[in-house]
Amino acid sequence: MSRLPPLIALAVAILVPLLPGLPPFWVTLLDYIGLYAIVAIGLVVLTGVGGMTSFGQAMFVGFGAYTTAILTTRYGISPWATLPIAVLITACAAYLIGAITLRLSGHYLPVGTIAWNISFYYITGNLDFFRRYDGISGIPPLSIAGISFIDSAKLYYLILLVVVLAILATQNLLDSRIGRAIRALRGGAIAAESCGVDTSSAKIFAFVYAAVLASVSGWLYAHMQRAVNPSPFNIEASIEYLLMAVVGGAGHVWGALLGAGIVTIIKDQLQDLLPKLVGQQGNYEIIVFGVILVAILQTAPDGLWPLIVRPFRRLGKSASRQARAAVEALARREAPQRGNALLEVKGLRKTYGGLVAVNDIDFSVAGGEIVSLIGPNGAGKTTTFNLITGVDRPSAGEVRFGSRAITNLPPRLVARLGLARTFQHVRLIAAMSVIDNVAIGAHLRGHAGALSGIARLDRTEEARLFQEARRQLERVGLLGEADKPATSLALGQQRIVEIARALCLDPTFLLLDEPAAGLRHQEKAALAGLLRKLGDEGVAILLVEHDMDFVMGLCERVIVMNFGSKLAEGTPAEIGRDPAVVEAYLGAVA
Ligand code: ATP
Repeated sequence: MSRLPPLIALAVAILVPLLPGLPPFWVTLLDYIGLYAIVAIGLVVLTGVGGMTSFGQAMFVGFGAYTTAILTTRYGISPWATLPIAVLITACAAYLIGAITLRLSGHYLPVGTIAWNISFYYITGNLDFFRRYDGISGIPPLSIAGISFIDSAKLYYLILLVVVLAILATQNLLDSRIGRAIRALRGGAIAAESCGVDTSSAKIFAFVYAAVLASVSGWLYAHMQRAVNPSPFNIEASIEYLLMAVVGGAGHVWGALLGAGIVTIIKDQLQDLLPKLVGQQGNYEIIVFGVILVAILQTAPDGLWPLIVRPFRRLGKSASRQARAAVEALARREAPQRGNALLEVKGLRKTYGGLVAVNDIDFSVAGGEIVSLIGPNGAGKTTTFNLITGVDRPSAGEVRFGSRAITNLPPRLVARLGLARTFQHVRLIAAMSVIDNVAIGAHLRGHAGALSGIARLDRTEEARLFQEARRQLERVGLLGEADKPATSLALGQQRIVEIARALCLDPTFLLLDEPAAGLRHQEKAALAGLLRKLGDEGVAILLVEHDMDFVMGLCERVIVMNFGSKLAEGTPAEIGRDPAVVEAYLGAVA
């Protein structure tokens, strides 16, 4: 994206308060826009990128505001000292609340955050400790080196500085290994875990990050208002924060600033205008907000920021990462010994209610071997994959990898051992480019944490991870598509992108679910060539595939499943002439 729209936004933000004759009221409104934007930036990470909807951000604003209000007025602690304390208290509270609430999925997560926010409102409004609904007053203004930020104009530039820092930190975070892990949540937890991402930690981190930004906003708010009470931290405020993020473009950091500006100004104007039109006081702006939200979601589902930056997009320019100088390649795992049993499946069984999806299956795959699992629809092939990779827990039986029992290990720990997989129904992250999707596969080969990402100390490691992603894309013949949105590719190519992502894990064992589906003849031949080469390097491959020409021409051994049981096992030639297999499956396929 061009840097022009953000630079214009920044220049406007710096210059507007300097306009001669600007009423102080507008400067105060700008202060509020900045405060709200800080909260909305957190929601970009949590909701726009991580896909977790929170109606509880006003509560975290309240954590920051009440912490500094209590510490400064009752204990005489300096406002600057209360900032780290407020951040710490909020981070701990958000961690605990997140650990409980983020287990909820679907609609239950937003409902859970609503419940927390309502609780906060009533607790602060009913306990003497928080001075009930009257709140706490007499909070000192911020001052530094004799300059007191008591008036709105001076405070404005401090708030703007915090907004800019929050934007930079968030952009850096989202462009880092941890940022990719948060983005990966959008492709589904199973896909992310299969790349080694600890999805629970990624979710909690995003939740805590958003809460900390909200807390900083609350801290600034308390010293601007110099009084706090429960009203600004109620559920209605949380809805407005979400509205700001959505209107601006929930996936776009600068969109948060835009959304905060639009919603705050419209709300303010409507609060003046509507009572005059209707002839009596009332919260009519809520109704108009609803109409505006529906209109925006209809015309610009991704928010307004993408519409603004679209004309500035630099056409035909490939991602800067393409041009980066070569860096040291990532360390590789030791290749497995060809011929030694790598994966052993013994008596594996899975039942769903009365249905036996996998019925006491035994087989093994050796290093460098290419084995296919075939059978009619519903035979239990994908379930077998899921049992091996930890996505599903077996009802009975054992899976061993190398010398280790991996039965019941979660997918991310299975991935850590060097088992990588693709999915029957492609699981890529639509909002990310091909190369960013592939780089998620290298998650376990990097170590940079969130702080080094935010501080940009991860650049060498990132260059190495992306060099690896490019190498794998080149290997599968899709380097030319690296910068395209992943889901703009044909479905067959998306399957190949998943293979490149799996290869980024540097696997010793690859499980491919219908890799040739949707590919043209030449593409299938190229894929078969790549898989043979991987086999020669010692990588073991187990694939589910319905294309019998592909299977018979590539695999050294074929295992046939039917109704959950193993029907036959042998070389392609043996399987091809097995009457039971011909009757159950090959007759139908031919
Ligand atoms: P296909 O070639 O169509 O993908 P498959 O051989 O991979 O078929 P599975 O997807 O493993 O078959 O399904 C085996 C059986 O288990 C089917 O009858 C399916 O309906 C059932 N099954 C799979 N997953 C579940 C689940 N989560 N809950 C209940 N039943 C399931």
